Amino acid sequence: MELKITCIPGDGIGPEIVAEAKKVLDRIAQKYGHTMNYTDILMGGASIDVHGVPLTEEAVAAAKAADAVLMGSIGGDTTKSPWYKLPPERRPEAGLLAIRKALNLFANLRPAVLYDELAAACPLKEEISKAGFDMLIMRELTGGLYFGERKTVTEDGVRKAVDTLAYNENEIRRIAVKGFEIAQKRRKKVTSVDKANVLDSSRLWRSVVEEVAAQYPDVTLEHMLVDNCAMQLVKDPAQFDVILTENMFGDILSDEASMVTGSIGMLASASLNDTKFGLYEPSHGSAPDIAGMDIANPIATVLSAAMMLRYSFDLDREADAIERAVKQVLKEGYRTGDIMSDGCRKVGCSKMGDLLAEFIS
Ligand code: NAD
Repeated sequence: MELKITCIPGDGIGPEIVAEAKKVLDRIAQKYGHTMNYTDILMGGASIDVHGVPLTEEAVAAAKAADAVLMGSIGGDTTKSPWYKLPPERRPEAGLLAIRKALNLFANLRPAVLYDELAAACPLKEEISKAGFDMLIMRELTGGLYFGERKTVTEDGVRKAVDTLAYNENEIRRIAVKGFEIAQKRRKKVTSVDKANVLDSSRLWRSVVEEVAAQYPDVTLEHMLVDNCAMQLVKDPAQFDVILTENMFGDILSDEASMVTGSIGMLASASLNDTKFGLYEPSHGSAPDIAGMDIANPIATVLSAAMMLRYSFDLDREADAIERAVKQVLKEGYRTGDIMSDGCRKVGCSKMGDLLAEFIS
């Protein structure tokens, strides 16, 4: 199979970690008989330096022409970089917002996995973490409170601010369908999170999710109120497979789920539209403090590449091979500095990429 992938190395450690992900993808191509066809584009600070803007139309066109986009990270040191003296719409992050919009990416996926070998980094009590966890937070990305009408007015001398949380059934249905499809590739359980005891938008959410669930009888659906979900994530994270939720709840819960893994350099993510197309990137930023030092952890980007194979190309066997290589590298005691612990072997970014490629089976 030929895979057309647009790569956005970006800024900071971005180019280093994307190079390692390509190394692993190239090994997959060799082993499983595929062709990787990469096109690199500039975005963020790298694009500002060359074109004066964080994203050009040509770059968007190149992204749209591909089957998927693999990104490193964009942005610089927000206190020192000259990029942050520019008006907000010309700063690096504006490129990311613009590409998400141009590609109509409405579903954000963030896995939170606790690897046995990294359990010590988990801030939960051992009696909880020993059960392990492997969940996927699926967050609606283009609707809800962050995109509703807002205003600040003064009424009778009192300032008042209004934000609107609106969803229509089509917006809910399309992400619910994605959630159930993805659950079918995992442990076949969806926990739909809402606040249906209070909010109309949540009551509609719940009823549309139930309609969609009827089409997926092999997937178990449960509903959970968001406040309870926030508690359950630290009390019993092993119970979750796919958590399906709206924009703001997902924003908060996905950060909470990330923190319970304890390892920022291991967290992958994907943003999907209603075709197979997706943008895949690590959850962490561009780490300008360690850029160019060959010490960044490339695993989050490599795992994002695995998500790309699974969700944009339906290459589950190849995605499994990458995830197995990550587990093996950890099992054999190799660590980048951010996940280093006593008795392990410290390696740099490039060496970690070499090892992951070598362990592809
Ligand atoms: P960050 O995630 O870049 O870094 C936080 C800390 O974690 C730093 O100490 C960094 O060295 C470390 N770290 C992050 N990734 C690592 C990795 N793979 N290996 C080893 N250590 C790692 O967050 P920040 O410092 O708040 O942001 C830096 C820049 O990144 C900012 O410009 C910010 O806007 C941008 N950012 C971009 C994205 C994105 O592109 N999607 C996301 C978040 C932040």
